Amino acid sequence: MCRHLAYLGPSRTLHSLVYEPEHSLEHQAYAPRHNLHNSLNADGFGVGWYPATGEAPVRFRRAQPMWTDVSFRDVAAAVESGCVLAAVRSATQGFPVDESCAQPFRTGPYLFSHNGRVGAYAGVEAKLRELAGDLADVPEARAPVDSALLLAITAGHWRAGRSLGEGLAETVFAVTSLTSGRYNLLATDGTSLAATTWGDSLFVLRADGSVVIASEPYDEDPRWERVPDRSLVTFEGDRLCLSSLAS
Ligand code: GLN
Repeated sequence: MCRHLAYLGPSRTLHSLVYEPEHSLEHQAYAPRHNLHNSLNADGFGVGWYPATGEAPVRFRRAQPMWTDVSFRDVAAAVESGCVLAAVRSATQGFPVDESCAQPFRTGPYLFSHNGRVGAYAGVEAKLRELAGDLADVPEARAPVDSALLLAITAGHWRAGRSLGEGLAETVFAVTSLTSGRYNLLATDGTSLAATTWGDSLFVLRADGSVVIASEPYDEDPRWERVPDRSLVTFEGDRLCLSSLAS
């Protein structure tokens, strides 16, 4: 499955976050250490960031392997942000390798990423579309990939007033009541982070006034902590909270 990562803390270059660490997201694209279901994440990548607190997120996505885009590597060294969400993709069987399917997705002030797959997608697609409702407000939910409908469903929860983390958790509950699958979701609104684990790896690093939530550690820092499966992690107002999604 894909690998994703979110950062909230003092402003830093995108380069220092996604390229420089010894086991950076770029490295995880061709040599992931914790992927359980695939050995390459070469079907595209995306980096989203907030230029300043309160501003709308900016996003760069490509359908090519992250390590082959030398131009973005340069740009990333010249861009700083205090809130970033990035992902490398391994396309789920049956979905195209296309820029529109590369995550993170963006809707309003939110960035969203899904690491996993919707089980037996063809059998539940119509039901998921019902849950997703009108896609007019979430144009990126039209991308031809299972994750896009998870974005639409979650965005509906956020529109209904749910918090960042509640929106993710409710989507996991709604979709897993219909079908199997893996649902590691990750999102930010620019000032807080939230993530679920449901079938794949996730780690948290708290260090130097910052927090990183990532599918796998990007270095050997002993402060990385593994998040148990079927959990919700939120980071808001300097508080990291972990709760169980298991019934
Ligand atoms: N199902 C999503 C896709 O096809 C995510 C895949 C993944 O986590 N590897 O892009």
